[in-house]
Amino acid sequence: GQPLSADSTSHPRGLYLLFATEMWERFSYYGMRAVLVLFLTKAMMMDKAFASKFYGGYTSLVYLTPLIGGFISDRYWGNRRSIITGGLLMALGQFTLFFCASNYGPVESHALSHWLLYLGLGVMIVGNGFFKPNISSMVGTLYSATDKRKDAAYTIFYMGINLGSFIGNTITSLIGDTGNPSDFRWAFLACGIAMLLGTVVFNWGKDKYLHTPTGEQVGLTPVQSGGIMGVYALLPVLLALILGILWLDSAKFPTIAPLLGVAVLGISYMIFSDKSLSGADVKGIMVIFIVSFFVVFFWAAFEQAPASLTFFADEQMDRTIFGYTLPASIFQNLNAIFVVIGAPLMAMVWTALGRRGAEPPSPLKMSIGLAFLAAGYLVMCFGVNNLQPGVKVSMFFLVALYFLHSVGELCLSPIGLSLVNKLAPVKFASLLMAVWFLANAAANYLAGYMSSLYPDPASTGPAPQLLGFQINNLYDFFMVFVVSAAAAAIILFLLSGKL
Ligand code: GLN
Repeated sequence: GQPLSADSTSHPRGLYLLFATEMWERFSYYGMRAVLVLFLTKAMMMDKAFASKFYGGYTSLVYLTPLIGGFISDRYWGNRRSIITGGLLMALGQFTLFFCASNYGPVESHALSHWLLYLGLGVMIVGNGFFKPNISSMVGTLYSATDKRKDAAYTIFYMGINLGSFIGNTITSLIGDTGNPSDFRWAFLACGIAMLLGTVVFNWGKDKYLHTPTGEQVGLTPVQSGGIMGVYALLPVLLALILGILWLDSAKFPTIAPLLGVAVLGISYMIFSDKSLSGADVKGIMVIFIVSFFVVFFWAAFEQAPASLTFFADEQMDRTIFGYTLPASIFQNLNAIFVVIGAPLMAMVWTALGRRGAEPPSPLKMSIGLAFLAAGYLVMCFGVNNLQPGVKVSMFFLVALYFLHSVGELCLSPIGLSLVNKLAPVKFASLLMAVWFLANAAANYLAGYMSSLYPDPASTGPAPQLLGFQINNLYDFFMVFVVSAAAAAIILFLLSGKL
């Protein structure tokens, strides 16, 4: 065929290899997460508040370990080894959950199963640390630095993420969330197989397809690297550390939140104590920090999907359509569907606005994203306002919420990622990507905490409290997200001119 030029719209085959690998991995991550809190509450007999915090602790650590995985990959392993090791670990973690879910029950009578739960999640957290940062950064290495196709490549990659999430979530909901707690194990088994498949596909295609436009192989082990084996020896230490943190945090010794604080301080010190940065560099870095702060409010509200919003779908929502009752966990899928359809449309909207010179600057787009998030919860508030006991809410409200949240995500998530890429001085590129990940870690932790305040109609205890306010019903609960997201949107809007 035709030789490809740099401005061609077709993409290197390597992109599709990374697309496929990431698709299977996201199948396994989102598929598992979709049924996690239901598994914890219905099979492991945890209460909703505990299960929520547990979910937040797990997802938070998932975003923390890429700091370590990125570092080890840059110094010792390279992208390829990291992705394969991470993928195998995550598959192992899913299979551990499969065994955990094959003999489920409350901790008093099923202690071993509870240990397997921690172990499975811990192994996955470590594995993700190696996998996620490396697969994302490899996408860029397939193109030359100035290649205009890079943005489009990340959009395509983002669609792969959500396609995987869609397929995984659909399968795990249908085979795992059946109403019979012993079926959850099939969901975890499917996720383990998907993760293995992704790793095998990557291993098969890596030498053939992962190279620069000029044919140089990418993602290999750094040349001067010793210490490859040393890192393997470190893995059990890392796992023990993660398990300790996860266990302590869930045993009511707040461990993760202070850890995140220390990480932020440490990274800030490493960056801002560098005297070689120009004034413009420092300004760019400040923008990354400020924007990351606002992003926390976004994901903390957004990531209610597999937690409080799934409790809501399970207990408070009419899920029957054409005489068939849908599993509660399947509704999160709407996000993936809307993103796959919406990502190319959104790219077109920005390009069309750009042609007229009216494309909003990134911080403004992100403020719009927060506004959509608030709007989603506002619609929900209408649905649950004056809800009488025993009455179920129409699924329209949750569908509308996921639609608005997905539009918001598309305004904020890919935009934020490329903003970090553009503003970060080369020297601190990975470290500032870590700041972005840390924002996610903090947000996910907060998401678990917020979900623990879900007003359980079955509970007879005192109403949950947030900053002195009582959360008496679902209306109050969802209103918290309306107010916090709207406030963040307005402040970011006011700041965006300056940023
Ligand atoms: N859905 C995207 C992914 O899984 C982004 C998630 C996030 O940044 N919190 O990669």
